Amino acid sequence: MLARARTEATAAAMGRDEELLVSKAAGLGFPGFVRAVAYWSQLADPDGGEDKAAKQADARRFHLSQGFEGTWLGDLVLDPVSGAIVDTALRRITDELFDADWSEAKARVGEHVGAGDLRRTPAQRRADALVEMAVRSGMAPAGGRRPEPLFTVLVGWESFAGPMCELANGSVVTPGTVAGWLDRAWAERVVFDTPSRVIDVGETRRLFTGALRRAIEVRDRECFEDSCDVPAEWCEVDHIEPWAAGGRTTEANGRLACGFHNRARHRRPERPPRR
Ligand SMILES: [Zn+2]
Repeated sequence: MLARARTEATAAAMGRDEELLVSKAAGLGFPGFVRAVAYWSQLADPDGGEDKAAKQADARRFHLSQGFEGTWLGDLVLDPVSGAIVDTALRRITDELFDADWSEAKARVGEHVGAGDLRRTPAQRRADALVEMAVRSGMAPAGGRRPEPLFTVLVGWESFAGPMCELANGSVVTPGTVAGWLDRAWAERVVFDTPSRVIDVGETRRLFTGALRRAIEVRDRECFEDSCDVPAEWCEVDHIEPWAAGGRTTEANGRLACGFHNRARHRRPERPPRR
């Protein structure tokens, strides 16, 4: 990562910051380090970052061609924003298909159903999800409202902890990349009083929904387990102090948990909550 980040334009800054970056490499997990280097590169060479983003966008391609026995073969390369849009739509449908397969397997096998009982492999489900996406595109009325948000980008207020400009899935993007989408985007503002605390929305509700849910998603961005990178879009918002034990539905008592870690926690209620 560091060798790739060192270019003619960043060489001087790398000489100054190499020790700092190596200490980040030692202290952060891999996705966190990739983000740290991306932000460092943006600061060290803002124009270079935009050039690279433009090259990534220019390199986009998609081939779908029919093989000689009638099957179809595909191959694609997408820039980070376009890829996140496709990935989000495809995963939403793949998750629906997974739920359907799980119910079907449970009805067939009973309570002890496992991944091996599912009638489709993950690759088969993705293929079916792509076909379903094509079918649904034909159902959309002409001139219908486009789904929002297509993707979520987190843009920071520089005074907190340096620059921030990343997709909700953790990919760092350049400000120029985001600017290109602004005519088709809507913006929402979430106010933090420290980098890790969103100003309390403060209502007593059973479920984390609406602005409160968004505040926690934008604050945490991934599952609360340190070793888990599941992004906010695929997490549930969990009460740190359980609702049943009097825990409130507030920003301070909410956290993101992937399905696995949310369920794991409820199987072991004796385990004290983190934080
Ligand atoms: Zn998790």
